[in-house]
Amino acid sequence: MTTEQVAADSAVPLVVAEQVHKRFGSLEVLKGIDMQVMPGEVACLLGPSGSGKSTFLRCINHLEKIDGGRLSVNGHLVGYRQKGDKLYELKDGEVAQRRRDIGMVFQRFNLFPHMTALRNVMEAPVQVLGRNRKQAKDEALTLLDRVGLGDRSDHYPSQLSGGQQQRVAIARALAMHPQLMLFDEPTSALDPELVGEVLDVMRDLAAGGMTMIVVTHEIGFAREVGDTLTFMDQGVVVESGAPKEVIANPQHPRTRDFLSKVL
Ligand code: ADP
Ligand code: MG
Repeated sequence: MTTEQVAADSAVPLVVAEQVHKRFGSLEVLKGIDMQVMPGEVACLLGPSGSGKSTFLRCINHLEKIDGGRLSVNGHLVGYRQKGDKLYELKDGEVAQRRRDIGMVFQRFNLFPHMTALRNVMEAPVQVLGRNRKQAKDEALTLLDRVGLGDRSDHYPSQLSGGQQQRVAIARALAMHPQLMLFDEPTSALDPELVGEVLDVMRDLAAGGMTMIVVTHEIGFAREVGDTLTFMDQGVVVESGAPKEVIANPQHPRTRDFLSKVL
């Protein structure tokens, strides 16, 4: 095998969506989404409210079942196990196992309110991965340090600002050593002055090589940190490309219209 072949083989996408369809009753929310995310890439997803962005992330994270097409993460079909040319639906335990590799951060900080920041971060590694408490605690403190909250480890969520809570949520996701991080409008519930500190943590994560899909209306972040920018509307990908190109020179009227409202 030549080095070129080796390089090509290692360039396998981490996420592949091919004609992904999803409906809720008679409402078709995803109408054939195609997308690929390479390892280490930051894919930004943009689009009006109701266009299906959250649903798409939820499908990737096994929270919704797709109705058509193919969706895979790290070579594994989401929801199915392939044996020969047969597909078997994953059992609950297998889904839970696969979901461990995917971290998700939502718009609303969904920390456990009765636990300190430290316990929020160390609980899943202890309960789910069976890590010993001392080890989990040390790692949680390192992660809290990394998101700039080393001195807030014994604070409860109610004692933290929205930006701090969201940074704890990121540390908590990282504690599971995910291969992929999904962000669903992580800064849109924050007061404007707190947005920057969360985006900074995400920027660091991207610089460290984390593969990320980020739904955001923060165009500056998409332009600076994103490797790709995909614009979705009404359940379809309208256009996708290098963020600078899409932002400076949108090809589709719907993209132009949307950008003119958020820029
Ligand atoms: P976005 O994140 O782009 O704002 P969503 O994925 O949240 O869009 O929603 C896309 C569409 O799907 C919306 O019309 C929404 O009302 C609908 N929808 C989302 N989740 C459900 C659900 N569980 N049941 C029924 N309709 C849903
Ligand atoms: Mg949404």
